[in-house]
Amino acid sequence: MTDQYKMQDPVKQYTKAGPEFEQQQNPPGLEQEMNPLPDAGQDTYRGTGRLAGRKAIVTGADSGIGRAVAVAFAREGADVVLSYMPEEEKDAQEVIKLVQEAGRTAVAVPGDLKDEQYSEQLVAAAVEKLGGIDILANIAGMQQFVPEIADLTTEQFDATFKTNVYGLFWLCKAALKHMKPGSTIINTSSIQAYEPSPILLDYATTKAAINTFSKSLAQQVAGKGIRVNVVAPGPVWTPLQVSGGQPTEVLKDFGAKTPLGRPGQPAEMAPAYVFLASQESSYISGETLNANGGMPTP
Ligand code: NAD
Ligand code: MG
Repeated sequence: MTDQYKMQDPVKQYTKAGPEFEQQQNPPGLEQEMNPLPDAGQDTYRGTGRLAGRKAIVTGADSGIGRAVAVAFAREGADVVLSYMPEEEKDAQEVIKLVQEAGRTAVAVPGDLKDEQYSEQLVAAAVEKLGGIDILANIAGMQQFVPEIADLTTEQFDATFKTNVYGLFWLCKAALKHMKPGSTIINTSSIQAYEPSPILLDYATTKAAINTFSKSLAQQVAGKGIRVNVVAPGPVWTPLQVSGGQPTEVLKDFGAKTPLGRPGQPAEMAPAYVFLASQESSYISGETLNANGGMPTP
């Protein structure tokens, strides 16, 4: 097992993709059914009290990047409200256990981010069960590839925007009512915001929207002592990618085109969220931290 603390060659820190990466599930997919399993950092992440006593909401917390972030936040001392879809309960139970093993409170609130009421439920759970909200990590997202615009339905276009953009807007709006100075919001964009794939028209467009939304909101709330930042991952090995995010046949080369030549793992994303959530990033707001294997960004 590799870890985040030992000096080593990042090219070799995790395996390149290969034929074994060609696998397929129905969306949203389950992490526990992936083989190889993603690395959420559960065997390695060491907290150093950077989020002691904080109260966090993490969306998409059952799997992938959200799972790694929920584990890291808990080990840094935060209690966590976990958002995920009801059909992901099996994955979520593993994360709840990891948060509890870190000695922190896990509040599970499954639901659909396309529903505005659900964002209110998530915030109410944080306020009532954790006593407030200091960190909002918007990590949930929907990605379904469609090669031709003629086949991209209004229903899908709508669902991608409702999940990725409206869900984030509603949750920011609801959470900000309760956030005190020192609180932080971290949104999740993608390399797709700057290098859109032709088959990800709707998804890539939502990620550009998230970048711009975050830069605007960051200025709006800075005077209240609240910071808003973005993490923009490159290709990361998660259920999203094997559940319609990419054509199955390209997964054997997943991440091969990045300068580091391999896919990223969720464990390599979590430290970026911890940094932006913690007071260590106190003079940083409206910024996008690209964690993408070395691809140039604007
Ligand atoms: P993932 O499938 O593990 O996580 C996505 C999560 O989004 C799901 O677990 C699900 O709980 C949640 N979600 C989706 N639709 C929802 C809905 N309607 N209501 C509630 N929850 C919903 O995959 P991931 O790759 O870890 O994705 C996390 C974020 O990272 C997403 O925003 C994604 O766009 C972004 N991202 C991923 C990659 C990558 O290569 N994996 C690259 C760039 C950006
Ligand atoms: Mg999931």
